[in-house]
Amino acid sequence: MKKFSIGIDLGGTKILIALVNRETGEVVHHVKKKTKKDKGPKNIIRKMVEGIEELIEESSISLENIQSIGVGAAGQVDRENGILIGAPNLDCYDLNIREHLSSHFNLPIYLGNDVEIAAMGEMKFGAAKGYDDFVCVFVGTGVGSSIVKNGKIIHGATGTAGEIGHMIVDLNGRQCACGAHGCLEAYASRSAIEKRIEGALRKGRHSVILDYLEGGKSISSSMIQKSIEREDELVIQCVNEASEYLSGGLASIINFINPKLVILGGGLVEAVDYFYKNTIKKARAKSLPVPATKIEFKKAALGDYSGVIGAAFLE
Ligand SMILES: [Zn+2]
Repeated sequence: MKKFSIGIDLGGTKILIALVNRETGEVVHHVKKKTKKDKGPKNIIRKMVEGIEELIEESSISLENIQSIGVGAAGQVDRENGILIGAPNLDCYDLNIREHLSSHFNLPIYLGNDVEIAAMGEMKFGAAKGYDDFVCVFVGTGVGSSIVKNGKIIHGATGTAGEIGHMIVDLNGRQCACGAHGCLEAYASRSAIEKRIEGALRKGRHSVILDYLEGGKSISSSMIQKSIEREDELVIQCVNEASEYLSGGLASIINFINPKLVILGGGLVEAVDYFYKNTIKKARAKSLPVPATKIEFKKAALGDYSGVIGAAFLE
């Protein structure tokens, strides 16, 4: 086993490429690139190749010491063949990542999705270290999750297991980006909270969040946090609503899978502690009595690095 692997977190706005020490999980060096999805899939491949070359050069570690390259992409993946099947946030469809990277680097290339690599990172070196039965839920633009059973990620028959964001929580509910109605993601994501706040502002409700929105900025997790600190009624109301739905989704997962631990992560959870605390309290209250007494909750511990660390261990 060689000492290092390269982990790549391929997201809608940035590509994070890191050299990871396989024994300690330490990110030895990293390179960041802008995704610029409007320039097409070829550009994304070029950015990854350039990034890997820069990483190797700047860290002065030779290819002989590198075990593998793992890529986690925000989309649906064919792990066996290394193909990114569909990634709306990257505007990539049927992109053979393994083939493209293999033509530049003589190393094993592996592909996974973004939530799975984050869960792997947390399992190896983060909040789930020592656990082999847990669920990771990440709240950001969407709501994603990954299920780990006996130390292995559950992929399901078509590789799409863990899509908690499309759990239907209201049969006649809001339209979701996936085409269905009433999906959890349409209620509990940061974007859902944004839409609720914006809708209320348009109707003339007042909120201190307006102080941060000058110059056409869009609502961020840190603006939500600052508004809560100032006890803003509208923002608290919208966050409570999202928390109510997310806790229902979590209770369903807890009852259905009976994990030992639930990890919550993502921008909204990291920035807004009120949201995290409220959600786990409600999730416990909504779960069946026996799992409710045993379930543990933790916040994700690796932040932005969880994906690259996990990607380094794809195989
Ligand atoms: Zn949906």
